[in-house]
Amino acid sequence: MNSKQWFERARKVIPGGVNSPVRAFNGVGGTPVYFKSGKGATVQTEDGTELVDFCGSWGPLILGHAREEVVEAVAKAAADGLSFGANTAKEAEFAELVCSMVPDIEMIRLVSSGTEAVMTAIRLARGYTGRRKILKFDGCYHGHTDYMLVASGSGLLTGGISSSAGVSPSATAEVFVAPYNDLAAVQEILKANGDEIAAVIVEPIAGNMGLVEPAEGFLEGLRAATAECGTLLIFDEVINGFRLGPTTYGNLCGIVPDITTLGKIIGGGMPIGAIGGSTEIMSTLAPLGPVYQAGTLSGNPVAVAAGMKTLELLRDENPYPKMEELGKRLADGVERIATEKGLDLHCAQRGGMFTPFFRKAPVHNLDDSKACDQQAHAHYFHHMLDAGFYTPPSGFEVAFVSAAHTEADIDAFLQALENWNRAKQSEIIFGTKIVTNGNGS
Ligand SMILES: *Cc1c(COP(=O)(O)O)cnc(C)c1O
Repeated sequence: MNSKQWFERARKVIPGGVNSPVRAFNGVGGTPVYFKSGKGATVQTEDGTELVDFCGSWGPLILGHAREEVVEAVAKAAADGLSFGANTAKEAEFAELVCSMVPDIEMIRLVSSGTEAVMTAIRLARGYTGRRKILKFDGCYHGHTDYMLVASGSGLLTGGISSSAGVSPSATAEVFVAPYNDLAAVQEILKANGDEIAAVIVEPIAGNMGLVEPAEGFLEGLRAATAECGTLLIFDEVINGFRLGPTTYGNLCGIVPDITTLGKIIGGGMPIGAIGGSTEIMSTLAPLGPVYQAGTLSGNPVAVAAGMKTLELLRDENPYPKMEELGKRLADGVERIATEKGLDLHCAQRGGMFTPFFRKAPVHNLDDSKACDQQAHAHYFHHMLDAGFYTPPSGFEVAFVSAAHTEADIDAFLQALENWNRAKQSEIIFGTKIVTNGNGS
């Protein structure tokens, strides 16, 4: 049985053959790869091939696949019991660890996914402020709750429109959508509606329209504008958290949001999410306060064990300078090859995060990202896959260099890119895209 055969079987019993849409390869065409196992920077596939993985399960695997100490911690926790639905010493230790690594997080509540973390953060913001409306940014992804599946509507000052069927218009009517990096648009919306807006939610470094960095002053501006009208600022750090240093991006750049959402890395590959903030705001959550939130598997001991070991290793080994060096080596290489070969391509990069954008001009927001050549991205994706490199199967995602990658992996990637002949490949037929970006992992 190879990937194609597994996909055919799966499609009969799983919608589209996948448990999360982007895995269907609709953004690049072709048959999705079935993974069998992973170790360090590489994965083995059901096709008997080995791939160097630059997707890393969409971000959690910052230490690479099946890092020995993490697997041991998980095995030990599993042997001690998979779930209790009661308190454990480990979850208290884990909360202490996160709070010690992120000084502005005084309290943390654990949930089981990033989606759930954002859902709780929004309810918390609404409960704390007594306001209903939310402001988000076009191209930022915050999980798949109704009111976060919103694209920009016809005007800034009207509610957004849903990017998914099945979402009540009343859910999206409460959400304003501004272009990422457009502080003036935010100020305009807050000026007219600030006293109704519970929270502004943003990925401080956007990672769901490809890698898009905040413009100078953008995050500072959001902090000042929200503070002025009593609106909470939520940093969705499900991708950013512990990505560029052993802490949040907010902490690294010295901007303190009111609420931080975490996920991905803090579970080390196990399902987890978290909401963090000041004692005052977090005390609005039940059972201390009136905002209800609960979870049968919240604080699951196996997930906590994986997350705890991952964060400890990040703190103790500090692989961040190495990931930055490798990321830069990769991005510089892509830029050099693009110039040499006259390719319409540039590479955004920050630390271990990178996105090759298939246009020369920089990308500052979703419109810029959408203006990239998706056919060229699809050709690049399949060429690299055939050469033994797995990158995110969508042009709207960020790729990751992990602590397990080596200079040799990067150089081999660049050599493969050098061998890419864009002109030689035929057009690729894409599948139907359900959402144009940020359809998550
Ligand atoms: C992945 C992601 C989420 C959703 O997390 P899940 O664990 O997939 O539910 C939310 N916000 C951001 C910024 C993400 O990248």
